[in-house]
Amino acid sequence: MNSLQSAREKISAGERLTRDELLALYAENDLLYLAESARRVKESKTGRKVFYVVNRHVNLTNVCSANCPLCAYQCRSGDDNRAFTLELDDVEKILTDAANVNGLSEIHIVSSLHPTKNFSYYVDAVKLVKKILPRVAVNAFTPVEIVNFAKISGMSVAEVLGELIAAGVTSLAGGGAEILSDRVRQIICPKKCTADEWLEVMRTAHSLNLPTNASMLYGHVETIEERVDHLLTLRQLQDETGGFVAMMLFPFHPSNTQLGSRFNLRRVGSWEDLKMLALTRLALDNFVHVKAFWVMLTLPIAQLALSFGADDLDGTLGEEKIIHAAGAQSSPSITRSQLETLIAETGYIPTERDSFYREV
Ligand code: SF4
Repeated sequence: MNSLQSAREKISAGERLTRDELLALYAENDLLYLAESARRVKESKTGRKVFYVVNRHVNLTNVCSANCPLCAYQCRSGDDNRAFTLELDDVEKILTDAANVNGLSEIHIVSSLHPTKNFSYYVDAVKLVKKILPRVAVNAFTPVEIVNFAKISGMSVAEVLGELIAAGVTSLAGGGAEILSDRVRQIICPKKCTADEWLEVMRTAHSLNLPTNASMLYGHVETIEERVDHLLTLRQLQDETGGFVAMMLFPFHPSNTQLGSRFNLRRVGSWEDLKMLALTRLALDNFVHVKAFWVMLTLPIAQLALSFGADDLDGTLGEEKIIHAAGAQSSPSITRSQLETLIAETGYIPTERDSFYREV
């Protein structure tokens, strides 16, 4: 029996797929078979429900010392008129404004690696959230930021996480994973944390009962094998800890990036987006949730993704700067009723959730 035949038999039997079987499914390129198979997995985990959250993104700064070739968001301090750094007064104004959002349940904070801000700045920003919005969950900071906090504070990763938990962080953001291959990272983000460091932060967070998300950035210089290995690495850590809540897929947006110009990259097409989403749903049998992040995918493709195994459209956002810096054409925010309409049109049940997938 070849890998494709065994993949199809295992999918029918609901069994775990191997690397070769996932690669065979990718190569076969039968999009509708992948969709149907992924949709069955989604429905076995979350039934007819599709989730969304009323949340607000806060990006504290875009001034960054890492200069990753993949990034359109970063600025050097004083470099151009795009550079910004919120002081705590600015953060307070944003949060006071967010307090008027009906049903707000999550603040999401991710930023760049500012060259001079110290760790207490980020801790104080989290404390402000808890002061102004005491009932709201704080999903904040990627492992890339956590490794940087450890570096600038002289603390261990566990100590950094402990201090953030004490300040009010309730889950870690899943970004910065890109592709968990140091070959790829050397090209796309050589100054970011290594693949092992990213995984170690997640392992430590889970050991402290701090849930996290996971992600993959695809469509740049990685091979298909590296994408599948990335998924299997996440699956292995999830077997070990069970601490990942949801998986997010990010197609690479090459506009305004050094990487896009150097390799003459174009954004992958919708076929690839939907195929990767279905393949991810099939590979990550131990993840309950796979998100279709509408900002990255656009609303029409995110809606279609609900037929390819996604069970969550993420949130209302309020404002988003990082992906839009790389040319995303989607609106920076969306209303609750728009999200509900998008979900209802697919026949699924719109289900508002909090940060931990409890129904609101
Ligand atoms: S991807 Fe993150 S770490 Fe890299 S340059 Fe951009 S903001 Fe900085």
